[in-house]
Amino acid sequence: MKTVVIASNNAHKAEEIASALDFEGWEFRTLRELGIQSDPAEDADTFEGNARIKARAAHEASGGMAALADDSGLQVDALGGEPGVYSARYAGEDATDAQNNAKLLAALDAVPDDRRTARFVSTLVFVDEDGAETVAHGTVEGKLGREERGSGGFGYDPLFYPDAFAGKRTLAEVSQTEKNAVSHRGNALRQLRALLAGS
Ligand code: IMP
Repeated sequence: MKTVVIASNNAHKAEEIASALDFEGWEFRTLRELGIQSDPAEDADTFEGNARIKARAAHEASGGMAALADDSGLQVDALGGEPGVYSARYAGEDATDAQNNAKLLAALDAVPDDRRTARFVSTLVFVDEDGAETVAHGTVEGKLGREERGSGGFGYDPLFYPDAFAGKRTLAEVSQTEKNAVSHRGNALRQLRALLAGS
């Protein structure tokens, strides 16, 4: 059995990763499940840089286990790509999802519907036992609404209408399976699966 440490304690992400990378003989454990402390400063200015920091730190802290990290965020065109790598702490260091969403709605108040375009971006960095690295990227394009809709998902999901749903439902109004089929993390995981299967 090969154990891969997921460099995150987000249960949503851990489940999504385990179901996407369904390789025979692989199992996934979060840092918390393994009792490993690893909380490096995510101070890079790109998603890939921050994912690498988290994956390398988990690889080291686990004494050389295979490690996988995701870094993700929302890029809003009318805000010049913000909040980007600052998505989790847009409204402050310990901001809640509700506070981040409220700040985003206020920042976009004067922006007309046709200019509310945005995308979620996910970068995955996988570091194998021998230190070899595999990087994958995924995005999902959509538009931001004017109020929160739906109770599923997390983060900015209640504001985000993926183009793939014809602008009718937010990512918080669909099942996890429907979200995974179009999401940035789903797309990055499908790319990573293909890269690892070919290696
Ligand atoms: P991190 O990748 O865990 O550092 O988190 C990035 C932040 O981007 C999250 O806290 C959310 O605010 C946002 N984000 C990332 N992925 C998603 C998603 O699938 N839905 C909604 N928000 C997301």
